[in-house]
Amino acid sequence: MDTAWANPDRLAALREGLTRVGDRPTFPVEAPFTGERIADVPACIAADVDAAVAQAREAGTAWAARPVAERADVLSDFHDIVLDRQDDLLDVMQLETGKTRRDAFEEVLDVAATAQHYATRTDLLASERRAGALPGLTKTVVHRHPVGVVGLITPWNYPLTLTVSDALPALLAGNGVVLKPDESTTHTALLARDLLEDAGLPPGLLQVVSGDGADLGEPLISRVDHIGFTGSTAVGREVGALAGEHLTDVSLELGGKNPLLVLDDADPEKAAAGAVRASFANAGQLCISTERLYVHADAYDEFVDAFVRETRNLALGAGFEYGPEMGSLQSEQQLEKVAAHVEDAVARGATVLAGGRDRPDLGPYFYEPTVLEDVTAEMTLSGEETFGPVVALYEVDSVEEAVERANDSPYGLNASVWTTDTDRGERVAERIECGTVNVNEGYAAAWASIDAPMGGMKDSGVGRRHGDEGLLKYTESQTVATQRGVRIDPGPLPQSLWTAGLTLGLRALKRVSGWVR
Ligand code: NAD
Repeated sequence: MDTAWANPDRLAALREGLTRVGDRPTFPVEAPFTGERIADVPACIAADVDAAVAQAREAGTAWAARPVAERADVLSDFHDIVLDRQDDLLDVMQLETGKTRRDAFEEVLDVAATAQHYATRTDLLASERRAGALPGLTKTVVHRHPVGVVGLITPWNYPLTLTVSDALPALLAGNGVVLKPDESTTHTALLARDLLEDAGLPPGLLQVVSGDGADLGEPLISRVDHIGFTGSTAVGREVGALAGEHLTDVSLELGGKNPLLVLDDADPEKAAAGAVRASFANAGQLCISTERLYVHADAYDEFVDAFVRETRNLALGAGFEYGPEMGSLQSEQQLEKVAAHVEDAVARGATVLAGGRDRPDLGPYFYEPTVLEDVTAEMTLSGEETFGPVVALYEVDSVEEAVERANDSPYGLNASVWTTDTDRGERVAERIECGTVNVNEGYAAAWASIDAPMGGMKDSGVGRRHGDEGLLKYTESQTVATQRGVRIDPGPLPQSLWTAGLTLGLRALKRVSGWVR
């Protein structure tokens, strides 16, 4: 199998970029397409995290002092380099994840677009005049300082997007960054860091450490000024608790059990094609992909026929070219979890309409895209995230029922609504308890609207990425207020006069603000 750029020598050279202050034991990393061992990666320890944070902090001082326009230029140049070097990035991502080239390309697109978006939003970091305590007499200005060092802990499923798109706004805001990617996708993070340095990022500012999250989590969370975690809800709770203990600011992007609603007026063919993408992109290993489909009875039969047909038509395969439509699961652990969810559902009475089996003939961790009917509440996959290519179909009698059942979940990450009446779709969308809702799209419309916030309600997260929030969370706001003329205290006045004057003043201000409004 031709991995082109990602040959053993280049991977070894990338690993030289890991931060470590001594020799470390290694852990093996394998290529999911074949199960072959591709590298032995050093397992960093707490002392390495210490060094990484210290070096990022030191490099951050000079970086924060640079004009924000210069920092933005690095992001803008990174945009070009990512597009120029896309094949190298695609090779490494595919090698480490077993995803298709088309799925990997989504990451290239996303990272380039995010870099360019934030490169043009330096205005968000400018100091800003605000209304003062005493109009005309108090000058109040809000400044945005970098927090210092941002730690990012990220998963394997989108190893470029989920590491870099959160690092970019953190860097633009003037911070150093320490990145702890998933153990199995360390090389993608290292290549991305090298490309950022090619774009002009000062050496040392973005540090990468590798290893077990349980070992490195506490040292990292206790030393950085903001921890951004993307991963499972279970680990997110632990990260949140540790952040609370150390009073480290935190944002959490967690799991989902995302619903897709097909309304009675939907075009069944279009909705089915959209639902296939929404469910099986990246082999369903996508936090915002669909796992529950609520289909109105009026559209059910036609929709299900088309959906099952299109699912069965998906071309599975391993390879570093743009052929296959669905790739491998990323690990043996992933395959075991997906197979266990389906076996449990089938044993309890679910009907398999498509898929339902592994495909060792294609690679060790391939599993067919799977559509289930007759899923009931006691089956594990009815409420728990599978994080694989498995979806459950439910027939509903009304939009009310669809919304109610969509909301009947502890998760609230992403949802999708299909209809020919987009106004109606938008009204339904607002009633769904998810941080992003797509109308007539599965996930890409909301995710790729980088100017808008993205993240989870309920157990799917705390805080947001993208949009203004995705940058400002990496800043400390500071208010500087200068008082001119009178002081804000009674001075020589009797207290009674002072309080009467202020009472009058507040009443007058309310009236004036009423007129202004
Ligand atoms: P995971 O939580 O097991 O691991 C994520 C990261 O956390 C890895 O780098 C891991 O090494 C690290 N980690 C593990 N234990 C840790 C600990 N005790 N302390 C600190 N760090 C620790 O998740 P995963 O299986 O790699 O990823 C799949 C999950 O991520 C799914 O639930 C998926 O929905 C979620 N996810 C969410 C988003 C989002 O944007 N909301 C995006 C992608 C994935």
